[in-house]
Amino acid sequence: MNKKTIKDIDLKGKKVFVRCDFNVPLDEELNITDNRRIVEALPTIKYLLENDCKIILASHLGRPNGEVKKEFSLLPVAKELSKLLGKEVKLAEDVIGESAKALTNNMNNGDIVLLENVRFDAREEKNEESLSKEFASMAEIFINDAFGTAHRAHSSTAGIAEYLPAVSGFLIEKELNFLGNTLENPKRPFVAILGGKKVSDKIGVMDSLLEKVDTLIIGGGMAYTFFKSMGYSVGDSICEEDKLDLAKELMRKAEQKNVKLVLPVDNVIADELSKDANSRVIDSDQIPDGWEGLDIGPKTLKIFENEIKTAKTVIWNGPVGLSEYEKFANGTKGVAETLANLKDCITVIGGGDSAAAIEKLGFSDKMTHISTGGGASLEFLEGKKLPGIECLLDK
Ligand code: ADP
Ligand code: MG
Repeated sequence: MNKKTIKDIDLKGKKVFVRCDFNVPLDEELNITDNRRIVEALPTIKYLLENDCKIILASHLGRPNGEVKKEFSLLPVAKELSKLLGKEVKLAEDVIGESAKALTNNMNNGDIVLLENVRFDAREEKNEESLSKEFASMAEIFINDAFGTAHRAHSSTAGIAEYLPAVSGFLIEKELNFLGNTLENPKRPFVAILGGKKVSDKIGVMDSLLEKVDTLIIGGGMAYTFFKSMGYSVGDSICEEDKLDLAKELMRKAEQKNVKLVLPVDNVIADELSKDANSRVIDSDQIPDGWEGLDIGPKTLKIFENEIKTAKTVIWNGPVGLSEYEKFANGTKGVAETLANLKDCITVIGGGDSAAAIEKLGFSDKMTHISTGGGASLEFLEGKKLPGIECLLDK
């Protein structure tokens, strides 16, 4: 990475503003259901503690839309962090108000203060200068470790860097190393698996991966736009009529670039979108009206497995079916299991829903790298510049 990290500057005893991604899922009682993002932030925080820093942490949680809303408070995060660190993390009652000022003005070395949800302030997502300046005035150094929001130019992710020396934390460094190295120097064969709902979400990433991979496997809802463009009837399957030309274009590009494009040959179809819909397996060119494809079929899974097994590098983004429902999760499970059993292969997972599926199956430890950023990892794979990274000091 050509950007400075916390290892590249003198931090001893400094007051630091650290943007983390504590956007964790909560259940109805506001319990954290997956603390992975908090755990991933620990190496940076521990390093700052070792360097006797005064640590101000900031994050967003959910979409409070610029208003103070109790259900989006970072209180559960403060508690979890305190537990994981074995050390008190004080939560300010506001973002930059009296409570935040009182707590951050009077810090000793090794103190940790977590500001309230930065999106309680409507200026955050507009990247307003006034807020960026207020954040900057709290500290001497800005550390961005929030990979999950690195694709957003907000006050606490990028704006603040105009007024303070800015470096990355260990998590951003790790994400860029894995995603970047995998793309730039892949061990071949290099296979990408793209799934998810819509072609339109993944156009950029497909286009950029076609320049790099040997094989591109397509599953999930977006396969049906490809089928439709090939003249198949897709019944009620999710399909983007306005992307048919684009699907053709992508297929042409694959051929041109000598990339093997693998589409499902059979599907699990259902008569409605529900947990206990009637379902059956059918070939891709036979989907009847009134039915929709919600998972890849068993023949397809075998084909996908065989492709994956030969790979030395795999990038996976997006479940290959409606994996939230048990009945349509077999394809995604099968792909995850195949990846988990690979011996000599680099496996990188770059999507929120794919990561959640792998976590649920208990295969997280078997992957080389699971990105903490859904949207950010997609934009990175597309080759876009991420504002939260661009704003950091060059090495
Ligand atoms: P990721 O978060 O891993 O990038 P996406 O958000 O792009 O993945 O896509 C995941 C969503 O796509 C899931 O909600 C999943 O249920 C849905 N999906 C996958 N296949 C289908 C399908 N055939 N029909 C409808 N929805 C699908
Ligand atoms: Mg998603």
